[in-house]
Amino acid sequence: MARSDFIYTDFLIVGGGAAGCMAAVRARELEPEIDVVILEKAEISRSGAAGRGMDALNNVVVPGIATVADYVEAVEIVADGVFEPTISRVIGERSFGILQRLEAWGLHFPRNDRGNYIVNQFHPKGRFLVEMRGELKKILAAQAIGCGARIFNRHPVLELVKQDERIAGAIALNLDCGELKTFVAPAVLLAAGGAARIGLPSTGYLHGTFDCPWCNGEAHKLGYEAGASLTGFEYTASSSMTRDFNGPGLSTFIRHGAWLINGLGERFMERYDAERLERAPSGIRMQAMREEINAGRGPVAFSFSHLPVKTIQLIEDGIFEAERPTMRDYFQRKGIDLKQQPVEVVASEVYLCGGHGLAGLVGDGWGETGVPGLFAAGDCLANPYGFLPGAMAMGEATAERIVDRSPARPAFGDAAPRLARLRASVEGHRRGALGVAVRDFEYKFRRLVNEYVAPPKSARKLQRFLDETEAMTREQDDLPAADAHGLMKVFEAKAGLFCARMAARASLFRTESRFGLYHERVDYPLQDDQNWKTRVLISRGPDGPILTRENP
Ligand SMILES: Cc1cc2nc3c(=O)[nH]c(=O)nc-3n(C[C@H](O)[C@H](O)[C@H](O)COP(=O)(O)OP(=O)(O)OC[C@H]3O[C@@H](n4cnc5c(N)ncnc54)[C@H](O)[C@@H]3O)c2cc1C
Repeated sequence: MARSDFIYTDFLIVGGGAAGCMAAVRARELEPEIDVVILEKAEISRSGAAGRGMDALNNVVVPGIATVADYVEAVEIVADGVFEPTISRVIGERSFGILQRLEAWGLHFPRNDRGNYIVNQFHPKGRFLVEMRGELKKILAAQAIGCGARIFNRHPVLELVKQDERIAGAIALNLDCGELKTFVAPAVLLAAGGAARIGLPSTGYLHGTFDCPWCNGEAHKLGYEAGASLTGFEYTASSSMTRDFNGPGLSTFIRHGAWLINGLGERFMERYDAERLERAPSGIRMQAMREEINAGRGPVAFSFSHLPVKTIQLIEDGIFEAERPTMRDYFQRKGIDLKQQPVEVVASEVYLCGGHGLAGLVGDGWGETGVPGLFAAGDCLANPYGFLPGAMAMGEATAERIVDRSPARPAFGDAAPRLARLRASVEGHRRGALGVAVRDFEYKFRRLVNEYVAPPKSARKLQRFLDETEAMTREQDDLPAADAHGLMKVFEAKAGLFCARMAARASLFRTESRFGLYHERVDYPLQDDQNWKTRVLISRGPDGPILTRENP
């Protein structure tokens, strides 16, 4: 293989979302000579969870309002005590700088009557949520392009390349021509988002998920296979979503004072454990919603009619203008006026995410995984409820570390055998001996997730999932893919199945209940702080995954 078969760079970023864009900008800002490549599966100006915009930065330590220590304490509460504080501290320290940077780039942060940022409470303790308006993703992408990073759109990464124990690059699929391309780099940042397509939404639509459906745990699988550890996979999160539209709104609705009501029109949260409501609020709220529905008091809805018109307008402004304009059309078509009608909500499918939960790759305060040269940032990193500021802060931190170390470019490591293996696997998919369409394959394991992995969990159900899907892990290599797009879908499904199985293993391992709904074990109904107030780590062993407690 000749050197000309490869594309060389100093810093390879997998995923051009919030974390990836910020990492590129920071690296080029510090070292204008550094060559940065972003491999993006979709099109960078609208890709990822923040594809259009967002109406707030959920977690900023605004001077005079909170301190970094307050923030770390708030996250520890949200994480139900299962927490390694380093990354949250870094996020807290950098968060206000991120806000100022975004403001300088043209994002709008509305001010109150006294000219201060509008900072609301979203965490159980402290105020960290800052209202924001504007087309965040377009602005981030413009900065990444403007800083001189080389962007390869429509290039999903399928495999990482190593040289001995170090990371040495990645192999991506060019969706336009179907060719595999190898990128050689001494430092790789995984920034490919969370794992959205794990459970199946109530609509049954594969892509109608709460989290960005194009991010499906590929970063987790790539990192794990390269030798990095995973954590938090038993934290199978779900959010409340507008029925059928499957849109967000939860944080906007709640922070502006909307009430959750049941089908009888009653506010019901008060009925549930008040002390626990103060902790792990999201999982507890979801648990309460499910209990109302199971008791025949559904459906559950957000009600706004008690709010002043000005507040409802603020909600509509955030959701309809900044975050999801199609929601306005949806409400109009359904005849829903927030001033009068409640909005029915359902629990979303189960998903795995660092930025919206606890699940992700394990990294240090610079996002470095245990594998030399391999970093992670954003929703694929275990950065407890780091949200947007977490993704961008860790993108920045990673870039600083890489520029500081300026590692030499490697040779092409084990790219040749990996490429050969990948080509053989692509051929296998072109033949498609399984004869089952990838969407049916994906539907099947996600339906099984709903039945056996989603809470309430039990050892019997979790083991059943692992047994049922065992054969699928072999059959997946014969899934048919007629073209490059189909091939990408196959790799997405493989990553989704990988993550779902890791979630089942971690859920089986943690023999207690914690995090409200998210890890509710009927066979271990109590929280056991003595044995389980610790993270569960999953690392790759010679015979399969090894699960351990971080603090035995
Ligand atoms: C519905 C919703 C609402 C939210 N609202 C808010 C909010 O108001 N405030 C807030 O602070 N946070 C919010 N968040 C959280 C925030 O959006 C995320 O934490 C943040 O966008 C994560 O950034 P990221 O870079 O890790 O991932 P993303 O921004 O999702 O970017 C990941 C990128 O990787 C690409 N990719 C995926 N797989 C591959 C692959 N194999 N190869 C190459 N590229 C790949 C994707 O196309 C995508 O561009 C919200 C999240 C959701 C889902």
